[in-house]
Amino acid sequence: MSHQWEPVIGLEVHAQLKTGTKTFCRCSTQFGDEPNSNVCPVCLGLPGALPVLNREAVTMAVKTALAFGCKVHRQSIFARKNYFYPDLPKGYQISQYEQPFSSDGTVEARLEDGTSRSIRLNRIHLEEDAGKSIHTATESGTAVDLNRCGTPLIEIVSEPDIRSAEEAYAYLSRLRQTLLYLGVCDGNMEEGSLRCDANISVRKAGASGFGTRTEVKNMNSFRGVERAINYEVERQISVLESGGEVVQETLLWDVDKQAVRPMRSKEEANDYRYFPDPDLLPLVVEDDWVAGLEKSLPELPQAREKRFTNQYGLPEYDSGVLTVTRELADYFEETARLAAGTDPKKVSNWIMGEVLAVLRDRNVEIDRFEVTPAQLAGMFGLIEEGTISGKIAKTVFEEMAASGKSAAEIVETGGLVQISDESAIREVVERVVAGNPEQAAEYKAGKQKVFGFFMGQVMKETRGKANPKIVNELLRKALG
Ligand code: ADP
Ligand code: ZN
Ligand code: MG
Repeated sequence: MSHQWEPVIGLEVHAQLKTGTKTFCRCSTQFGDEPNSNVCPVCLGLPGALPVLNREAVTMAVKTALAFGCKVHRQSIFARKNYFYPDLPKGYQISQYEQPFSSDGTVEARLEDGTSRSIRLNRIHLEEDAGKSIHTATESGTAVDLNRCGTPLIEIVSEPDIRSAEEAYAYLSRLRQTLLYLGVCDGNMEEGSLRCDANISVRKAGASGFGTRTEVKNMNSFRGVERAINYEVERQISVLESGGEVVQETLLWDVDKQAVRPMRSKEEANDYRYFPDPDLLPLVVEDDWVAGLEKSLPELPQAREKRFTNQYGLPEYDSGVLTVTRELADYFEETARLAAGTDPKKVSNWIMGEVLAVLRDRNVEIDRFEVTPAQLAGMFGLIEEGTISGKIAKTVFEEMAASGKSAAEIVETGGLVQISDESAIREVVERVVAGNPEQAAEYKAGKQKVFGFFMGQVMKETRGKANPKIVNELLRKALG
């Protein structure tokens, strides 16, 4: 029956900004340091300590807003969000509430079938993170690490425009990709640099209003968000179909059980009593400064994707894969530039196929890959000039990836040069034809398929080094 229900989803994403120091003090934001080593009176909330806003955090936040086409407001207000929790020593979090620094904007999410969906953003605001409770640190209880306390975050709030778990996944992918392109967040969900809460409701297809929503938290991967949404949508549908009502509440995603459970009501009873932080002036960003930042933005994923298709004549699929990260896109462009005589589509095939396979295998990032664009371009050069065949190139590439040697060096020392000498190949062809009289007769009798057998035999004899075009010609002649 689910087809008559439509999911309505809005996501709230917290992204940790990659600043060197915290939002309101100069403590380091380094992940993984000795617990409680990066703290000071400001981030510990000691009486009398005063916050001073980090310009780098504002810069990164504004860049992000600009990248999504948000309005950046000249003036915004920091507010105190009050609640009590062991990892929040001040008893409040500095956030933005009534006047965030930016609003509106859109994220263009690309679905797996290649179509796009525009998801509107409601706002992006700046805030500080809380510390971390570690429930596994001691036998007797919970330990608190305040290193993360005061680390800058942006919260990116979407409108309830998302209509499926798949769209949510696509939205998050585009969001993360853009943050990485901008260099403002490392995007690491396991380390908590990117966190996502999902607001979910369902309504009868075609209805104009929204149903009652729940908020699901605690997912630690994009796939987790996708699964949690699917689970919660189904749960709400079955509640409604059995005549019940959805209760507005906060739920936690339980990875082990692959199910949601209610948050303890104590944790949920929130009355944040927001009010402007009297220790901080309104944040004012000058128009010129914002305009300067807009000019400084790198080419963003969608733009780069489009350019790849136009400039290199690549299929949209290829452009999408190659621009997944800025580093991979740079790698492709540098290789294509250096291998100017090679069709960019061929370069793309190699990178999407061989190169990505090796990276996946080794679990290594492209910027750490031994085979540099110059080396890969060198290999293409050898193919173009006919020194090696495309088939041998695969062997050469494997060796390049294993040893870091250049293609030319491998080809020379490995005796992998393609055989294009007709007389040498003719000799092999004649031997193979003479050695397989039955198959030769079959071919003459019209069984075209046998030709492949002869091709294979000749390639085998020459250990794959014979120029396939010449083999093909000579075989046709020899077989008559
Ligand atoms: P709150 O003030 O409780 O945080 P907001 O109005 O700021 O609520 O919305 C929080 C998130 O919930 C936003 O991403 C928004 O798009 C989403 N949202 C709001 N109403 C619904 C709904 N009925 N169904 C699904 N998502 C919703
Ligand atoms: Zn500090
Ligand atoms: Mg909200």
